[in-house]
Amino acid sequence: MTAVTVRVPAKVNVQLSVGGRRPDGFHDLATVFLAVGLYDQVTATPADGLRITAAGRDVAGIPLDATNLAARAAVALAKRYGVEPDVHLHIDKDIPVAGGMAGGSADAAGALVACDALWGLGAPRNELIALCAELGSDVPFSLVGGAALGTGRGEILTPLEVGGEFHWVFAVAEGGLSTPDVYRECDRLRRAGGGSDLAANLPAPAADPALVAALREGSAVALRAALSNDLQAASVGLRPALAGTLAAGLGAGALAALVSGSGPTCAFLLPSAAGAAALAATFPPGSAHPAVSPAPGATLL
Ligand code: ATP
Repeated sequence: MTAVTVRVPAKVNVQLSVGGRRPDGFHDLATVFLAVGLYDQVTATPADGLRITAAGRDVAGIPLDATNLAARAAVALAKRYGVEPDVHLHIDKDIPVAGGMAGGSADAAGALVACDALWGLGAPRNELIALCAELGSDVPFSLVGGAALGTGRGEILTPLEVGGEFHWVFAVAEGGLSTPDVYRECDRLRRAGGGSDLAANLPAPAADPALVAALREGSAVALRAALSNDLQAASVGLRPALAGTLAAGLGAGALAALVSGSGPTCAFLLPSAAGAAALAATFPPGSAHPAVSPAPGATLL
């Protein structure tokens, strides 16, 4: 085999319920991931040693060394199967970097699938998913796509049914937000509000039945009423301009607006593809992207 290309989707969390901080520093989550049709592509070709290159949107913001999540995925897979991590991974980026849309996680999942094929390992899917979970909380979902409830720190997945298409616009912000910083701010806001930020003192988060039903029915109107993101106040606190972006989208016809994951990308729900195209056109050129969900997970092209 000479080259393998894998396409991997971005995600939006249509529910992101954050429990308290655990002794290991992670937070218990109940999150509903929805894969959206904004994609990175990871191409693996044979090489002497491990090499990473990237092209496309915001690539100045991603490391091209062993810390790149795609490189870490290749190394983890090679180690598990006792092979050398000899591969050139080229990442074509369309998912905003540090935007709360799991771009790095997508590249990790893409690299695993691409290297598995290039090296002819034939790793069982559950083995790949287990490796994904070691690489990061959002990586298993990037592999499976569609829609899923994520529990634990988001890595324990239960697939969810989606009964129709949902139309979105994603407005990217200048500069990313660090996911750990946003969780720290969430904890700080909880303490500042007189509450506790510790898992032992807070109820375990759970999936919202109304949201799960809205997905199953494929109803944008029902989904609009059920969208939630416990990290949104923290993201907006760290990046106050997001409040204006959310309001602008709502003023221009979005059914609903929320911060995507830890932000700073803002997600707008629209009733139709035409509505999404019209809303995207109200943002500065290149800063807002229409996309449809659900989207498939990591796919060999
Ligand atoms: P999440 O939604 O999973 O919290 P995110 O979309 O906010 O993640 P990423 O795009 O995954 O954020 O990037 C987070 C950081 O990870 C970046 O600041 C970047 O330096 C680093 N990183 C490492 N590898 C990659 C990669 N392949 N693509 C993007 N970022 C990467």
